[in-house]
Amino acid sequence: MRGECIMPIAENFPEGLKPIGKIMHSDGEHYHFLWGPGKSTNSNGSAAEAFANENVKAAYKARGETQVPLGVSGTMVAVDWDSCVADGACIEACPVQVFQWYRTEKDIPAKDVVDKKFAGTGSSVKEERKDYTDKADPIREHDCIWCMACVSVCPPQAIKVDQSNLQYHEKAAGTYIKLEGGENPHAHD
Ligand code: SF4
Repeated sequence: MRGECIMPIAENFPEGLKPIGKIMHSDGEHYHFLWGPGKSTNSNGSAAEAFANENVKAAYKARGETQVPLGVSGTMVAVDWDSCVADGACIEACPVQVFQWYRTEKDIPAKDVVDKKFAGTGSSVKEERKDYTDKADPIREHDCIWCMACVSVCPPQAIKVDQSNLQYHEKAAGTYIKLEGGENPHAHD
């Protein structure tokens, strides 16, 4: 692997990152974590893919939104949102519709999705991104069948799929329950 030429999601994800919040599924049972901090530059000093991509930059400008580092959405199916350029190859490739364009369900800045609830009713069609500020979100991470199709088709290699990362999800879940008050967890706004 020529790691010096492509800067995908970190091979050792989520080492060095911390859970910064969740995206909850409105089924009341499932959720996936967001990991941060995000990055605007890769470890070799080059701009992170979403910060270098002309489509993405133009879309932020058109909205009047400032582009900020976002981090990684998901743990077993992890999408580096600072590398995601809203191509949609993953969305098209996934046989079980793990991903949705989050903005097609809730059109809010990506930095504000932390601790929000999504029903999974957004689009899972490649060309239906709201615009290039949209991100592929693994809202149905729990449905992944580990086929790796999304990993191999992602142009900036923004996705890492690793079933064994369940341990990090569970550890983060334990930490969150403690933070939220033990027996009486509550959701944040
Ligand atoms: S590994 Fe396969 S099933 Fe899992 S999210 Fe990627 S494309 Fe979907």
